[in-house]
Amino acid sequence: PAEPELEALQHADVARLLPVPGAESDKYRRGVVGVAAGSARYPGAAVLAVAGALRGGAGAVRYAGPAARDVIARFPETLVSDRGPKHAGRVQAWVVGPGAGDDAGPVAEVLAADVPVLIDADGLRLADASAVRARSAPTLLTPHAGEAAALLGVEREEVEAGRLAAARELAARYGATVLLKGSTTLVADPGNGSADGKGTAVRVNPTGTSWLATAGSGDVLSGLAGSLLAAGLPARDAGSAAAYLHGLAGRRAADGAPVGAHDVAEAIPGAWRDVT
Ligand code: AMP
Ligand code: MG
Repeated sequence: PAEPELEALQHADVARLLPVPGAESDKYRRGVVGVAAGSARYPGAAVLAVAGALRGGAGAVRYAGPAARDVIARFPETLVSDRGPKHAGRVQAWVVGPGAGDDAGPVAEVLAADVPVLIDADGLRLADASAVRARSAPTLLTPHAGEAAALLGVEREEVEAGRLAAARELAARYGATVLLKGSTTLVADPGNGSADGKGTAVRVNPTGTSWLATAGSGDVLSGLAGSLLAAGLPARDAGSAAAYLHGLAGRRAADGAPVGAHDVAEAIPGAWRDVT
């Protein structure tokens, strides 16, 4: 029989993926996630990405960028530096791009690192596609429909009308895992849908809520997924578990009323408990 094209994530699948520290764990073994995000114009994106990362299961969050003062004021547990990611200490995965503005430097620096990288928001525009394809460590791209359309050189409507095809096409072009955000979020691997594919279906996240359509919401997701990458999950699993938790956190935080993105970040631990 033909393999299913789509697979909906379930509670039990996500529960199995989430890292749980053992007696032998220390913060470094749990993973250090690096966040290279924010700018003088958009310092809040850095704060929100760190807010997501702190709830994602990595043992420490390292922030490298121009919003270090804002980040440390809000989250004193963050290791901060106002220099670029190249000068940061060891990290097991990088998140780059939210609120990054026009500075392509940090994107190029993290792409050159031999660790998993999540690229979101401005970072998607700034990332060199051939540098992404040349990586041997995993890369996870997290565009919304508008960002996906810009990368593909088509109108947003075209992506909205064919989300599955758009996610697969982007994954193939970049040789990267693609998490296409929206009212239903899709996670596609580069092999999907091609003759030499791995036979893995595109994952669909069923947990969202339209209250998540609020500024900064995606920044929280990028930190959360990056933290799961640093904890050692493969890109496909990190992306889909993060989307699942983020959707549940959105529902918990909103509970039928409007919320801000920082409320969603604060609801992640409750969502995690719901799943496990
Ligand atoms: P961003 O556009 O980068 O801020 O990301 C928005 C986040 O909110 C993503 O995780 C989307 O999947 C989610 N989202 C946006 N609109 C909706 C919607 N109508 N229903 C469910 N989730 C949504
Ligand atoms: Mg965004």
